[in-house]
Amino acid sequence: MSDCIFCRIGAGEIPGTFLYRDDEVFAIRDIHPVAPSHILIITKAHIPTLNDAGSALVGRMVGVAQELARQESVAEKGYRLVVNVGPEAGQEVLHLHLHLIGGRPLGRMA
Ligand code: AMP
Ligand code: ZN
Repeated sequence: MSDCIFCRIGAGEIPGTFLYRDDEVFAIRDIHPVAPSHILIITKAHIPTLNDAGSALVGRMVGVAQELARQESVAEKGYRLVVNVGPEAGQEVLHLHLHLIGGRPLGRMA
């Protein structure tokens, strides 16, 4: 059994609030949301960081984010997509995921 939290959620071993699933990616609500809409778009495969992913898969993740932004009614108001990569970015879970954050004014990036 994998000790990776996102592998385990993808396999149904740990619960998640699923918003989307296909053969390559799934999306769940972040357990510690920083905004009214805080969704994680996660690869089904265990890919540690963005450095390890091909552009087609990354494009698919962004496409899912576009669709979920529409579903969450933040597409026109605005939202932010974030990928933390590695220690200086504060990546906590070493399994590739895209944060979709919206539903409030987000201010400027640090
Ligand atoms: P990062 O710092 O980019 O690796 O982000 C990891 C994110 O995963 C954080 O925003 C956490 O709140 C979120 N997270 C950790 N465990 C869970 C979980 N069981 N279900 C949903 N989100 C989680
Ligand atoms: Zn994993």
